[in-house]
Amino acid sequence: MTSDLDQRLKAYEGREVGPKDVGVDPVNIPMIRHWVEAMGDTNPVYLDEDAAQASVHDGIVAPPVMLQAWVMRGIKPRPATGGALTDELYRLLDAEGFSSVVATNCEQEYHREVRPGDHLATIATIESVSEEKQTALGAGRFVTTRIRYVDQNDEPVADMLFRILKFRPPAKEAQKAPRPRPALTQDNAFFFEGAKAGKLLIQRCAACGKLRHPPRPVCPHCRSLDWDTVEASGRGTVYSFVVNHYPQVPAFDYPLPVGLVELEEGTRLVSDIVGIEPADIKVGMPVEVEFERFDDELTLPVFRPVG
Ligand code: ZN
Repeated sequence: MTSDLDQRLKAYEGREVGPKDVGVDPVNIPMIRHWVEAMGDTNPVYLDEDAAQASVHDGIVAPPVMLQAWVMRGIKPRPATGGALTDELYRLLDAEGFSSVVATNCEQEYHREVRPGDHLATIATIESVSEEKQTALGAGRFVTTRIRYVDQNDEPVADMLFRILKFRPPAKEAQKAPRPRPALTQDNAFFFEGAKAGKLLIQRCAACGKLRHPPRPVCPHCRSLDWDTVEASGRGTVYSFVVNHYPQVPAFDYPLPVGLVELEEGTRLVSDIVGIEPADIKVGMPVEVEFERFDDELTLPVFRPVG
């Protein structure tokens, strides 16, 4: 059964989208030169007059895939003459919820070589608007536009089929993005396992007894590879801090205060500072650990001002 919307969309098929859109400049050597240099295309028929004369082309031709360059708008905007009807069609699809867009394919067919001095223009026609399709991106409708490239005598030089998908954007996930996982190693796993168990553990050299953080395999004092851990009291002071505003990563709330906390035991660690307005955080302020469970896998120590 055809819906009212299907009928309204079908009415666009076969219609020209607006007046002919004429390229700013005729096909010319300097633009060909820029293009082939950028692409690294060394075919001599594009720039070398003698080689081009000796070829099947009997003279210089423009690279076929430069087609769109000859009618492209420059950096300085000029009024569009061609797109009025497609704009109207896209607005209709937007209003029906198909507000996201992705280009899906582009096919070019060349009828003859384009040569310096040709002056190209395009005439665009809406070829088809599909019924609603289920795609990996969501439900949507394919809009196919045929763009005919003509020369100064209105003779066709190429055709381009350009297809886009206008689709319904997926509903935003209500659930918050998960906090990034730590990169676990043999050396640091104890710290995160400890946090899960509600313990703030510090790595200790088994040979000289010195504490170190962040965890690493070798004692910087005596070079011993042997270590164990001790449980910290969880009390410390703010040694330094920053308040992050940008860039904003989805899993976090901003402004995001991050402290370098000096523990009573002497080691320092980087951690969220919670329970205080960022503007009220002071260097030297006493803080105490608590454990914040973000999900089944991840619990991290955070620090809250004392008193
Ligand atoms: Zn040591």
